[in-house]
Amino acid sequence: MSGLQGSGFRGQVTLDGPSGTGKSSVARAVAARLGAAYLDTGAMYRAATVAVLDAGIDPEDAEAVAGVVAGARIDVGTEAGTEIVRVDDVDVAVRIRGAEVTRAVSAVSAVPAVRRQLVDQQRDLVAAADAVVVEGRDIGTVVLPGATCKIYLTAAPEARAQRRAGQLGVTDAAEIAAIAADLRRRDTYDSSREDSPLRPAADAVVVDSTELDRDQVVDRVVALAQAAVGVSR
Ligand code: C5P
Repeated sequence: MSGLQGSGFRGQVTLDGPSGTGKSSVARAVAARLGAAYLDTGAMYRAATVAVLDAGIDPEDAEAVAGVVAGARIDVGTEAGTEIVRVDDVDVAVRIRGAEVTRAVSAVSAVPAVRRQLVDQQRDLVAAADAVVVEGRDIGTVVLPGATCKIYLTAAPEARAQRRAGQLGVTDAAEIAAIAADLRRRDTYDSSREDSPLRPAADAVVVDSTELDRDQVVDRVVALAQAAVGVSR
């Protein structure tokens, strides 16, 4: 991880929520504004999924998945301003965004041993930073229950599908419907799994971005983070 240190913010901002809410772009912008490091935990689960797919095993086979991921070295962070994602020293930053990984990642991330391994790694990375923005699904509830400021970012399902389609450059109605169906499938999987299901922490502030543009969401989260540590601007 990296980040320009030196703003008034010290602590952890957690940004959880379902897919397609603009969480990643909000998290990156908030980290830049606060001079904080940024950690994308979804990239870690996606990298673990690359290891599983390359091993040729079924992502639904929990025991085999746990074994493969235990033997994989997963690195995420920022080097010279570029986000890096590596599995056993191989750059997978582009591959983790592909459809094959997106289809399999929820099954891999539902395996408790995988979660334990990656949560330990996430806590180590966070401990090394004075100020950090961490995005995921279970950061406020499980990974960092004592975080300084917890945000749960949500948006109406149609808005999320439109946004994801915009990112992918998709305009065809049938393709947008397929994206909406995939978001629903992942939400259901992520919120109904037994280990660390997707849900807001009791002390999270829920921000609904359906009617807000990205800059408005970023302003809101930055203000909440600064208020949490008593920094006035
Ligand atoms: O955020 P992103 O869409 O990249 O996350 C990919 C998948 O990784 C999610 O659908 C979820 O299954 C899993 N994930 C998780 N816990 C996190 C972050 C991501 O289970 N903290």
